[in-house]
Amino acid sequence: MADIELRVAETIKTRQMIVEGDRVAVALSGGKDSTALLLLLSRLIPAWQNVQLIAVTIDEGIAGYREATVKAAEDLAHRLGIEHHCISFPDLFGDSLDVLLKGRETQACSICGILRRKALVVAAQRAGATKLATGHNLDDEAQSVFMNVLRGDLPRLIRNSGADSKGTFIPRIKPLSFIPEKEIAAYLILKNAWNELPECPYTRYALRREVRLILSDFEYRHPGTMLHLMESKEKIGLSCAGSVIAAPLRTCRTCGDPSSGDLCQVCLLLRSLGR
Ligand code: SF4
Ligand code: ZN
Repeated sequence: MADIELRVAETIKTRQMIVEGDRVAVALSGGKDSTALLLLLSRLIPAWQNVQLIAVTIDEGIAGYREATVKAAEDLAHRLGIEHHCISFPDLFGDSLDVLLKGRETQACSICGILRRKALVVAAQRAGATKLATGHNLDDEAQSVFMNVLRGDLPRLIRNSGADSKGTFIPRIKPLSFIPEKEIAAYLILKNAWNELPECPYTRYALRREVRLILSDFEYRHPGTMLHLMESKEKIGLSCAGSVIAAPLRTCRTCGDPSSGDLCQVCLLLRSLGR
């Protein structure tokens, strides 16, 4: 446990993820990664000068899954005495994810991902946060690198997550991005915080699920594979610096958010869903 806490503290320090005066919002889904992140930050942050920790939860509205995880998030924040804010898809987008997805279940994760990113930024802004911390671990990050390679999406491959938030003024940070999923599970078990929770019913449609199996198998047979993928991303990013030109930023005609086109990704998606 002490080793994980030390490595997370070092990642935060060397990458200057959190600085004095920050109000850090943890994106707390109630699942194991965000639970571990909140536990870790609640141990580390009190020792740092003038940094506040809060939690934000998005209830997408996924029947049979979200009720239990939202409750787990509320219970954890309450137990740790951490300010907690929760907003739902119906509040922001008019309907639950289950309703928005009718007939489009195979696209669940891409639709959910776009809307949840927006919801997290809104929740963090409403809570006055200066940083948004997500629980992505080493496995998640390596899977994203591999998926972007499979899709041939070079701009997304080399993008750094802090830059994802351009225009929102709330940089995203991923303090667990060098901690393997198995170590996070071990940390939770040792902390007596392991909670068996239901799995999202839409995961069966996710490309990530297949990539996860392939990479776990590779990591088992060739330890270090995931870290090497992360190194590849950084090296490709360095050698491509300046040669991949991002589209100039404009303002979304509907919501005013930064956008590369006339409408931002969220407004385009909502329009395609008939909202
Ligand atoms: Fe959303 Fe897909 Fe995650 Fe379910 S598995 S919560 S649909 S991103
Ligand atoms: Zn918009």
